[in-house]
Amino acid sequence: MKSIKNEGTVRCPRHCEPFDAEYWSLVSADQDPDLKTAVLGGELNLVRCPECGTFFHHDGELIYFDAPAELLVFVFSEKDRAKESELLARMREDYNIIKNTLLKQLNMDYPPVSVFGLEALKNILQEEEKNRFESEVVAAAAASLEFSVARLKPSYARQHHFPFYVPAPAQDRSANGFAVAAAKVLKSGLASTLLRHFEDKMGEDGADAPILL
Ligand SMILES: [Zn+2]
Repeated sequence: MKSIKNEGTVRCPRHCEPFDAEYWSLVSADQDPDLKTAVLGGELNLVRCPECGTFFHHDGELIYFDAPAELLVFVFSEKDRAKESELLARMREDYNIIKNTLLKQLNMDYPPVSVFGLEALKNILQEEEKNRFESEVVAAAAASLEFSVARLKPSYARQHHFPFYVPAPAQDRSANGFAVAAAKVLKSGLASTLLRHFEDKMGEDGADAPILL
């Protein structure tokens, strides 16, 4: 899916004369990594009033989509906070339409996330970067102990606060097998709250085996 840019009238917070500006309404992060970088840098949809020179963010709705990461975020306008339940109902409808048309070939089987404002989107992406980095450290620690590395389904890992990569047990692919493998890697001295949490959950009675990609 391609990113989409729009043009529309924007209003300066200092009540200057309205002006036309371009802004993104759909960001396809895997197609346009520069736009993801812009979100993280706080530059996405940043506009400048030609009259007074003030910089401000275009406060419109935006869809942020990263297909390989299984991350779909509906970003609502800050000014619509009071209408949250109405917006969520519309989001579910929109999601079903998108899922069954534009993104049919992707077989989306994970729910969308919603936030208000670009700052909240930035926070999600920062958390995501932090977890990706920690997951790579887990993968490296697992490999150094001669475990093979299993990749969890990204939306499942995110939802449960697990690392994106975990050590794979050699034989026993049950939840307990994964818990034992995770315990061995943690015992080697790795400090990872994500892997610790994964070990705890996999070690619970009746836990289901993790969903792998
Ligand atoms: Zn202005």
